[in-house]
Amino acid sequence: MNFTSTPTGPLGLSRWLRNIVDTVRTTVIGMSITIKYFFTKPVTYEYPEQRMPVAPRYRGLHYLEQDICIACRVCEKACPIDCIEIRFERHPGNVNEWFEFSLDYNKCMHCELCCYPCPVDCIHMGREYSLVKYDRSELIVDLMAWDGMRDKDHVTIQAAIDKKKKKAEEAAAKKAAQAAKAAADEPSAEDENEGEDEE
Ligand code: SF4
Ligand code: SF4
Repeated sequence: MNFTSTPTGPLGLSRWLRNIVDTVRTTVIGMSITIKYFFTKPVTYEYPEQRMPVAPRYRGLHYLEQDICIACRVCEKACPIDCIEIRFERHPGNVNEWFEFSLDYNKCMHCELCCYPCPVDCIHMGREYSLVKYDRSELIVDLMAWDGMRDKDHVTIQAAIDKKKKKAEEAAAKKAAQAAKAAADEPSAEDENEGEDEE
């Protein structure tokens, strides 16, 4: 478009006028779109300060309710691509000493197959979607709220050991009492001799 050059002849004049009309028309079209969006609600989110809302059944990052997990390994076995790694040691009183409960998001495909079979419903997929890391190794995420054991776990273990010990002592005492009763009920050699003399 060149409005400054002087139109020469009728053809040049009509092209010059057409250019002006086109310029005004396209400017009006462009500005009408701009003005329309100027008054509508913005659809952009200033992440990470603003978080995008997700659907109620969104399958985001997992979270574990470790206090009710019974370490049955069902979720680990259900995962089709072996993302979950569980390591623990079971102690008296069904107390688990936790070493590892991790999930590898390098492999996870967010299928939720690990959550459905959990017998106590303690592993879930949340709504968190941010997996921004500087290194791929950081995508192996620890789901534990604590590792090892808590103070109350030591108390539970000691209570279970004491209960077992008490039960064993009671069983031994009962056995000893039964043996003593059996011995008392048996006729002694003296009694038998006395019986023979009377005959
Ligand atoms: S969501 Fe699917 S792929 Fe990811 S850990 Fe669970 S079962 Fe495995
Ligand atoms: S299936 Fe549930 S209870 Fe069993 S180990 Fe996994 S999270 Fe824990």
